[in-house]
Amino acid sequence: MALSLFQRIGFVLRGGQKHSRTRVTTTMSDKTFDEAELRERLSPEQFAVTQHAATERAFTGEYWDVWEDGTYHCIVCDEALFSSETKFDAHCGWPSFDRALSDDKVGEKRDLSHGMVRVESVCGKCGAHLGHVFPDGPTDTGLRYCMNSASLRLATDDESTSEGETTA
Ligand SMILES: [Zn+2]
Repeated sequence: MALSLFQRIGFVLRGGQKHSRTRVTTTMSDKTFDEAELRERLSPEQFAVTQHAATERAFTGEYWDVWEDGTYHCIVCDEALFSSETKFDAHCGWPSFDRALSDDKVGEKRDLSHGMVRVESVCGKCGAHLGHVFPDGPTDTGLRYCMNSASLRLATDDESTSEGETTA
């Protein structure tokens, strides 16, 4: 009986791979944005990356070589996703983190595009494509969140304590 259960699980897993791109429905609360509004608000690259899972060219993004303290937010819905404290130099040309701010901040989808099996990272709040997560990180998490700068906005720690906040 136990064997048949394993066989059934194996069947389900293999069955899933038949789809070229599996959309996994998760419990995250997808917030939907109006496409016209997004096209106006985002740059063409930000739109292509977040809405159509495009990938910016390595070493061209805004944040791959930025080491300021702060929090990286989703460019679409502004949810806080990553802390600069977990950013590391993966020498890959994309901003890389070893963990999300919390587990529910960043969702995962199985991505079978381009002939590879990868885990796609999406914003846990709005579903925007962020990048991919790989199991070859150098820290204790063993994870490397390889993100597109185009999906992120860095809110530096200075920003929150600047003149705008204080009244003279
Ligand atoms: Zn978002």
